[in-house]
Parts: sequence; C-alpha cells; structure tokens
Amino acid sequence: LKNDQLDTWDRENFFHPSTHLAQHARGESPNRVIKTASGVHIEDRDGNKLLDAFAGLYCVNVGYGRQEIAEAIAAQAKELAYYHAYVGHGTEASITLAKMILDRAPSNMSKVYFGLGGSDANETNVKLVWYYNNILGRPEKKKIISRWRGYHGSGLMTGSLTGLELFHKKFDLPLAQVVHTEAPYYYRRTDLAQSEAEFVAHCVAELEALIEREGADTIAAFIGEPVLGTGGIVPPPAGYWKAIQAVLKKHDILLIADEVVTGFGRLGTMFGSDHFGIEADIITIAKGLTSAYAPLSGSIVSDKVWKVLEQGTDENGPIGHGWTYSAHPIGAAAGVANLKLIDDLNLVQNAGEVGAYLKKTMTEALGDHPHVGDIRGEGMLCAVEFVDNKAGRTFFDPARKVGPQISATLLAQDKVIARAMPQGDILGFAPPFCLTKAEADTVVAATARAVKTVLG
Ligand code: PLP
Repeated sequence: LKNDQLDTWDRENFFHPSTHLAQHARGESPNRVIKTASGVHIEDRDGNKLLDAFAGLYCVNVGYGRQEIAEAIAAQAKELAYYHAYVGHGTEASITLAKMILDRAPSNMSKVYFGLGGSDANETNVKLVWYYNNILGRPEKKKIISRWRGYHGSGLMTGSLTGLELFHKKFDLPLAQVVHTEAPYYYRRTDLAQSEAEFVAHCVAELEALIEREGADTIAAFIGEPVLGTGGIVPPPAGYWKAIQAVLKKHDILLIADEVVTGFGRLGTMFGSDHFGIEADIITIAKGLTSAYAPLSGSIVSDKVWKVLEQGTDENGPIGHGWTYSAHPIGAAAGVANLKLIDDLNLVQNAGEVGAYLKKTMTEALGDHPHVGDIRGEGMLCAVEFVDNKAGRTFFDPARKVGPQISATLLAQDKVIARAMPQGDILGFAPPFCLTKAEADTVVAATARAVKTVLG
C-alpha cells in the first residue's frame, strides 16, 4: 500500500486513542505509520529512524526487536494459541509465569490474577478489595483514595482513580466511591512547605483530614504509583511512603501499589516497592511484564488478602470475576521470555546505572538554563520541568504549550522521541532499559538543542 492511501484510510476509519479527534480527521495533525523497530529505535514507512526515549508508552523495557520473545510467541501460537483459564485451566506458559512473578515480587505476595492491560488490572483490584470487605462483613468500607496527578487507567473506575482533569471532564467522573488527596509533588507545592520533611507532614495531614472527613470505616484502599508517572514523573520526597503507610495501617486501609510503570526494573530495582520500602497489599503490573510484546497485566495479591478471598469462595462459590483472555497463553509466553531476558542481560542493573547517568548528564547540560526549573528522576525515568521564572517558580501559561513545542522540536530536529507530559510543561524520558551511555548522550544533546531552539 502507498503511504497516501494509508493516510486516507487512517483518517476515514481509525478512531485513535488519546487524540484530538477533530484535528486528526481534518488532516491537521501528523500521521506516522511505524513499520519496524530495533533496540531503542523505531522506523516509519518514510524511512525515518527515531530514537524512542519513551519506550513506546514506557513499556518496551527490553527494547524493540527481541527475537527471543518473538520466537516464544510464535512457538506458543503454533502449539496452542488459546485456551481459557477458568475453573482451574492453565497452560505451561501461564503457570510458569505466575511462578516467575511471585519469585520476583516482595515476599508478602501470594498469588497473581492475570488481565490484559493496566486499566483492567486496576478494575480487578477495586473489585477484589470490595469483595474482601464484603467477606469481612464490612460492606460500607468501599471508598478508594487516590492522589491528584495519579494515573491508573481510563475505564470508569480507573479513570476515576486517575487524578488528571482530562480523564474526568465530560465523562461525569470521578465515580462517587473515589476521593483524591494531595500528590507528593514538592517542586510545585513549595508555597505550602519550606522543606521536603514539612511537605511530607503536609501530605500526611491532608490524608488524615480526608480519612477523618469521610470516615475510616468507609475507606477500603489507597492506590498510588511508587513514582508518579503520567502526572509528571515525580519521585516522592524522602520518607513519604513510610509516613503514608503508617496512616493507612492505623485506619486498616489496604494499599494498592500501581507498579504498571515501575514493575520489573524501571527504577533499577525489580519493583518500585523494593525501592521505597512499600509493603503493599496488592500490586498492579502490566507494561514491563511482557515489555509490550503482547498485552498482559496482573494483580499480585498478598497473603493477607488472599486468605480472605479464599474464605469468601468457600462461603459463596466461585468468584464472579473473569476475563475471556485472562492468562492468555501468547501473553504468558511473551512474559516468560521477557523476564528471562531481563535476567540474562542484567537489564534491571542497567536501568539503574544508565538511568542515573541520563539524569546526571541532563542536569549538567540543562541545570543552569533559566527556564529549566527541575530535573528529576529515578532509575530509567527522568523529567525536565520548564518554568517561566526560575527564582519565583512561576509557570508558563498552558496556552503557550511550551512542553509540546519542545517535544515536537526534539523530534523534528534530531529524531528523538520524548513525551510532553499531559499536565504542566514537563518533558518525560522513559527509555528502554538497554539504552547505552552513548545513546543517553545523544538524547541529552538533542534535548539541549531543542530547549535552545524554543526557549533560547
Ligand atoms: N497504571 C499506570 C501507573 C499507568 O501508567 C497506566 C498506563 O500508562 C495504567 C495503569 C493503565 O494501563 P493501560 O493503558 O495498559 O490500561
């Protein structure tokens, strides 16, 4: 097919996610048809080779073009493309993968339920905590606390958990069972606190006040990403997770760690929970579980939660929750091959080392720029936040679209993909774990050039 034919068909037929629909249909936004990819590079049908410093949507963690995973998928498809996992059915791949996940997960974890993507896994988690509280005879303990700027998906419940306005506006969300609290985003809230420690105390006080207002006996769980991702790539201030967990324990509120981005190595540790000393009751996994070679997600439940769920089915029969494609054999085969590759190539360690190098070199290149307010990150997650006035810490008018302009310039000038995060002028980097230091240098030099072009 010719590219212009694809372009016409695309605009006529394809309803793209997270896209300005009217602009796209009118032909005002670009179309890029991706053809192939290898390592950290993707290639479009026009022959442009782009360095993908966001690993797709922070998911192609082992890099593109891994033949080991492609071959595992092909072998599985040939032998058994599908069978369901209901009433005790499994495949060698799904059973092996569950064992591999539990071998890597924090030691209080007990079982894994498989889904397809991060959103459905978080839907599962909410149902599991509701089921849990029903079995424990406290059906009114149902609300879920989430943070502003948290991202947990875009379904009805998960879009409600997500703390970004775009995902609520015009959809009548959030649902009534969801309440939001302060994001651990110190850089933006220095008006409230002089030091990180004071800001943590503020977050704790906000949480306590919310629990007091709503009533602890109405609150089932708190959900949070170890490092805020889509909300701006924001590592929490020191001591945040320890302090939050103490509050949750006191009020018997379960903790769901959404590790869709941080799971399987992105922070330089197998899980973000390991990195921050989080002892979750449920962990959400997706993206890095298969490095996006096939759709697969999971809810890892702790011993404490599992014991209650088990007891519930003794009383009520099978749990009324299942997807046709739960534990899909092709996804599971991709997951097994992916986790092996992460071990064999030492990619968790590389994510930690090269990620630290990326942040350091980015800071050297841009730290003194008058419009660069903050450069932050953890492992293979990095963000550069742009400000109008650095000393006064004032932000650009969102209408100027400084972040999107810089990411578009970066792509146009040097063929490097970084993501303009959806709220605030923040450029996000989340490269594949196999990024080399030389590739990190390319990303940093290109970013410095793009910033100079747009902001001088
Ligand atoms: N949770 C987090 C932390 C995410 O970053 C995402 C997606 O970016 C999701 C959940 C939703 O995952 P999915 O898009 O696979 O439904």
